[in-house]
Amino acid sequence: MLINPWQEFKQGRCIDGIIETSQFTRIPGLIDNSIDKIYFAIEFYCDTQQRYCIKGHINGKLWLTCQRCLKPVANTIDTKINLALVSNYEAAKQLPDMYEPVIFKDGNIRSDNSFDRHNRTRANRDNNKSKLSILDLIEDEIILVLPYVPTHPIDMEGETCQV
Ligand SMILES: [Zn+2]
Repeated sequence: MLINPWQEFKQGRCIDGIIETSQFTRIPGLIDNSIDKIYFAIEFYCDTQQRYCIKGHINGKLWLTCQRCLKPVANTIDTKINLALVSNYEAAKQLPDMYEPVIFKDGNIRSDNSFDRHNRTRANRDNNKSKLSILDLIEDEIILVLPYVPTHPIDMEGETCQV
């Protein structure tokens, strides 16, 4: 899922879909379970200051390894995003608080290989460099909201990991 963001922003496009959690590669402690799915709905738009923004909603469930008992623990994901694309850290610092910056410049966001291969004959190299991977974007957002050390919740008696 690799898109040319400039085109999407111009058209104010909405994209939604389902990602199987087995497609994620960077989430720490992720139990590879293709049954679990993450749903997303995002909208590309330009705000009144002509910033390129992406807002939307990500929800679903991930199974991680409990760091106390090493058994699976479910993590519910339900997060709203409001991102603004910026070209450098200086611009990121100047964004209003409502936005989370995404540093985006040529080649800075990893490309999705399957799409690259498919389109190599048509797209020139410069175009490929300025593409944005939705999978990476959503994985980044999930990493931000996941607990640093996933564990089973503690119950009323202060007990945990009774699974
Ligand atoms: Zn546990």
